[in-house]
Amino acid sequence: MKQKTPHHLPAFSRVFAFVFALAIISSGSAAAQTSAKQPADTQRAFSFIKKSDAMLQEQARVIFNQARKVFAAHPPSATPSDERLLAFYALDSLFHDTRLDKGEAFTGFMEDTAKRVADTLAGPKPASGLRIIRFYNHGFILQTPTVTIAIDIVRGGKRVITGVEEEPFLDLELIRPIIERCDALFVSHPHNDHADLRVAKLFTEAGKPVVAPPGLWTDVSPLVLHPRAADATEPIDITVALRSIKSPLAVRVYPGHQGKVPNNLYAITTPEGKTILHSGDQTGGGADLSWLLKIREQIRVDVFLPQCWMSRLPLVVEGVAPALVLTGHENEMGHTIDHRESYWQCVRRVQKISAPSSSPPGANMWTFPDQQSPSNKRVGRTLRVSRSVSSLGSL
Ligand SMILES: [Zn+2]
Ligand SMILES: [Zn+2]
Repeated sequence: MKQKTPHHLPAFSRVFAFVFALAIISSGSAAAQTSAKQPADTQRAFSFIKKSDAMLQEQARVIFNQARKVFAAHPPSATPSDERLLAFYALDSLFHDTRLDKGEAFTGFMEDTAKRVADTLAGPKPASGLRIIRFYNHGFILQTPTVTIAIDIVRGGKRVITGVEEEPFLDLELIRPIIERCDALFVSHPHNDHADLRVAKLFTEAGKPVVAPPGLWTDVSPLVLHPRAADATEPIDITVALRSIKSPLAVRVYPGHQGKVPNNLYAITTPEGKTILHSGDQTGGGADLSWLLKIREQIRVDVFLPQCWMSRLPLVVEGVAPALVLTGHENEMGHTIDHRESYWQCVRRVQKISAPSSSPPGANMWTFPDQQSPSNKRVGRTLRVSRSVSSLGSL
């Protein structure tokens, strides 16, 4: 679905939006995880004459690997370096070269990213604040000292399940150690790039709740919750019991849509008091605008996680008034290349909102501080955003 350029571009001189790009992105060669399987660069083949496919795969691996190094040296920032942006744009080139789709370089990158996320979650939880881990497509994992929440986590790739054909980008066994560390899953809407029954079952089989849009997986488990009616027009406040905490998690479910498809927007308030709003594939128009543009009047959103190609994104960001914006859904590899929105496109878009920034892939993380700086306050209709968001850097 293509989106039109917003007609209205409000002044957000104080707002810093962050393009929290890829999750799919990473080389399969980073660190020790892959060294056992692959030779060092110096030991690889040099000549690829009459081996065009092999040459392209090797070239992609080299670029993925180099991008990882650049992201490590140039961590997330409100003012990303030229090097950092170039690394993102190099990845855009790879993700839009369909000769590389499903190739070993891409698969290696995906697997490496999943391992990095799993390794992060296997380590200690953050001592304070909110850790935000970007996963593939529009998937995020939110972690505080007390809870770990997953949103729209999928394996990527084709899916049918009941009719068998699956062909995921990620093996379920690579997802399993990630899910084992999460307390609950929130699913925005039923599209394959957001909802994955195999992933959901990893939650329910472990006794963990899955909050789903209306009509999805209704016969899978009593642990799949459907708080919002398909024809709802008003948000509903719910609580979700988690094993990890005594008091249930407070969530406001907004009754959004992608076209005519019900799409839940979840405003999740952590026990530490941070509220994170995930957009799913919310359309930035239609009747939903009546409440979408008034969210700021109802709740205080600390972090907004919109899909990057949402129409009227600047207007919606103003309506939400978050302290931090991290976009998602860049380079969805299940789409044709015209709809694999590039990082450069998102940088261009967020420039219309504010000063742009870009985040690194996979297991790189933002931390959102417990104590917001004095400047991080709403002043009238102007949102002032703290620059104090820090990154833990690459792993
Ligand atoms: Zn989507
Ligand atoms: Zn969708």
